[in-house]
Order: sequence, then structure tokens, then C-alpha cells
Amino acid sequence: MQTSAVYVITGGTRGIGAAVARRLAGVAGRGLVLGYRGNHERAAELVAELDSAAGPVRAVPCDVADQAQVSALFKAADELGPLAGLVNNAGVLEQQCAFTEITADRWSRVLAVNVIGLAMCCREAVTRMRGSDRPDRAIVNLSSKAAVLGAPGEYVDYAASKAAVDTLTRGLALEVAPYGIRVTSVRPGIIDTEIHATGGDPGRAARLGPAQPLGRAGTADEVAAAVAWLLSPDARFVTGTTLDVTGGR
Ligand code: NAP
Repeated sequence: MQTSAVYVITGGTRGIGAAVARRLAGVAGRGLVLGYRGNHERAAELVAELDSAAGPVRAVPCDVADQAQVSALFKAADELGPLAGLVNNAGVLEQQCAFTEITADRWSRVLAVNVIGLAMCCREAVTRMRGSDRPDRAIVNLSSKAAVLGAPGEYVDYAASKAAVDTLTRGLALEVAPYGIRVTSVRPGIIDTEIHATGGDPGRAARLGPAQPLGRAGTADEVAAAVAWLLSPDARFVTGTTLDVTGGR
């Protein structure tokens, strides 16, 4: 089925990415392409939930650290129709540890996904979007409040990678503004998803939530709401900026 607007969401089958997919799905003529790294079962479940007559939903295995897989992800999007939006949501962190425990291999793994993978997805998207004059072309990058706070004693590598996302967002936004393409980033605070288990601290959101200014951790859907707004025509004059979704953190 050819659609009139395709949205690509990397890491789009769990957590914040899946919440964004739920917000974008079901609009007539809109197709979704959801990248994911390896959890086929969760991908299949979400496709079954969202695929509709209004708009097709495809899940495509894509490790964003692999350039060939990134190319394949965007070719899958081309099959559905013209690209309107990209949500660079895929992001990783590793076990919490002291800065001195972070090895060069770990720095390489984290930067390969969070920075280089994201940059390569932006490259694929801009290559397609700049040849079009549709008014709804936008890229939203998932940063983190860690970019500002630094995540000392937890994952300084992850925090530094997210600071790079904010700088990339600003530079790319200014570079492609003359084409009418908008680029923004969202900085979530502590959000209740499975990412904290990856860092060896599955109870992190429950433990730290009450200490946040609004008294709780956020939900994936609360971040997705900000992403959906930044993609929407209501944000047509917003670019080159970063939106904190942190409950005041
Ligand atoms: P999550 O629950 O861990 O989900 C991660 C998603 O990304 C999954 O769909 C996963 O695919 C995919 N993914 C992981 N590595 C990938 C790779 N190399 N290539 C492509 N896809 C990959 O994460 P989340 O909490 O929703 O976080 C989403 C984004 O928000 C990340 O960029 C994260 O840094 C950022 N963020 C989150 C928080 C928070 O508190 N949760 C706070 C600030 C920022 P599989 O299912 O196949 O594994």
C-alpha cells in the first residue's frame, strides 16, 4: 500500500518509541516504519496492535550502528511512500559504573548507537526530505536530561553522547532550515521504561521518581506527546531547539 506520509521511528517497538508509534498510528494515509534491534516478539505484537486499514505499520530489524541496516530501514520506508518524519529514538546505556570503569570499547559501543547511528539516520532522512517541498518534514531526536546533568557515577559516556545529540540537532537544524526541514530534540527526565534495567537498576524510576520536582517519574506516553507535537503542524515555527520533558528535573 502506498501512503502519502511515512514516519520512521528507530527503536520504535518498546518504551518511548512504541508510545510515539501509538500516537502516530491510525491516521488515514500515514504509514509507519518501526526499527528495532532484535526483540522480534515485541515488534510483532506492536504491529498486530497498530496495523490498520487507515495506514500500514511495518517493523524492520535495524541496528542503527550498522550502516547497511540503516539503509535497508529507509528503503523499507520508500516502499510505503514519501518520508515526512523521523524519530531518532533508539538509544542505549550500559551498566552504571564509575567513569574510570568505562573502557574505550564501551565508549565506542555507546557512541556508535547514540551518536553515529542517529547521525546516519538523519543523513538518510535529509537526503530524502530536501528534495520535497511538503510542509510537514521534521526530525525529532531523543536526547536526555543527562546531557546537562552529566550522570556522574552512573554513565558519563551516555550523558556525553546525549550532549552530542543536542549539538547535532542544533547544527543540522540550522543547516537544513533553508529547505524547510525542522530538527528538534527532546530531553526526557526519569521515565518508567525498561532502559533502567539495562543499566542494572530496574527500580530506578520508582526509587528516584518521588524526588523529582513533580513528585514522580514520567511515562513513555508523556514523552511521546511532546514528540508528536514537535512533528505536528502546530510546531511549524519550532526548530533547532530542545524540549525538556522532565517533570522539572
Ligand atoms: P528502551 O525501553 O530500552 O527501548 C529501547 C528501544 O530501542 C527498543 O525498541 C530497542 O529494540 C531499541 N534499540 C536498542 N538498541 C538499538 C540499536 N542499536 N539499534 C536500533 N534500535 C535499538 O528505551 P527507552 O527508555 O524507551 O528510551 C528511548 C530513548 O529515550 C533512548 O534514546 C533513551 O536514551 C532516551 N531516554 C530515555 C529515558 C528514560 O528514562 N527511559 C530518559 C532520557 C532519555 P529491541 O526491542 O529490539 O531491543
